[in-house]
Amino acid sequence: MDTAKIIDGKAISAKINEENALEVARLARECNVQPGLAVVLVGEDPASQVYVNMKVKKCHELGIFSDKRVLSKDATMEEVLTLVHELNNDPKINGILVQSPPPPQIDEEKIIAAISPNKDVDCFNAVNVGKMLTGDNSGFLPCTPYGVMQLLKHSGVDACGKHAVVLGRSNIVGKPMMAMLVQKHAGANATVTVCHSRTQNLKEYTRSADILIAAIGIPEFVKGDMIKEGAVVMDVGINRVEADNERGYKLVGDVDYAACAGKASLITPVPGGVGPMTIAMLMDNTIKACKMQNNLI
Ligand code: NAD
Repeated sequence: MDTAKIIDGKAISAKINEENALEVARLARECNVQPGLAVVLVGEDPASQVYVNMKVKKCHELGIFSDKRVLSKDATMEEVLTLVHELNNDPKINGILVQSPPPPQIDEEKIIAAISPNKDVDCFNAVNVGKMLTGDNSGFLPCTPYGVMQLLKHSGVDACGKHAVVLGRSNIVGKPMMAMLVQKHAGANATVTVCHSRTQNLKEYTRSADILIAAIGIPEFVKGDMIKEGAVVMDVGINRVEADNERGYKLVGDVDYAACAGKASLITPVPGGVGPMTIAMLMDNTIKACKMQNNLI
């Protein structure tokens, strides 16, 4: 196998964002509605601040109304719940997300449960997780695995009948990835294996994967001898490792890119692979939420 073709998440997300900007303009023109997203940040976590600002910026680029709410790091559960209820009842707001992780005094599960399922554009609420699992598309799909499915689609990869191996079983990536790949839907229909920290003989599974999705949070964990010749390798990982540059660090994935690129048929780089898709799919979900709440779909 020659060097793998790179799945360009930057270019694919740019195309999706462009289409969504046109859809936002159409909604304004033809239906007189503007999608709105509320982004709630509790505390001052620097990485969370960066993520929140990126989401707000993307809203502006696409013409989506955004409402950034910042609560202090000492905010109480009651204060956060009061804000969520206010946003649930705000007609300008179609989607709500509370940036994770919140400070320790905040029970994230309770906050997620308080977000109206109709506005749960992150798809963390049990109602939407259930809809995703049963293949009911009246809910939302969680942004990162939804982004992986879109990358496969835009790269011409049909998972039907293929062995897809998911590394990781988190509620944000691994489990929903499994649920989406196994659906009886176009682009899915895969035979799915989920591996995790207690899996034995991991390599046996990864080497039999036609499509390998790595979401474990360990820098460059997947080595060249762990993948099959010609596999499609999707790297969800975003890990900071020390580097001899101005910032003092660089980002790497969960896949040893240099070792796997010569063996895979398609591979996502880090950065520039799955990463940019997450925000694109958040915008997509916000537009869907707006259409649902205005009875346009
Ligand atoms: P997590 O820490 O919640 O879950 C990691 C999973 O990996 C666990 O289910 C665990 O069982 C499994 N695991 C750990 N060690 C393992 C091992 N040795 N062998 C097999 N499985 C093992 O992580 P997460 O939230 O799912 O995130 C995973 C990675 O994806 C992280 O690098 C994170 O930064 C990244 N991420 C990226 C995006 C994005 O927008 N691209 C979004 C979410 C997460």
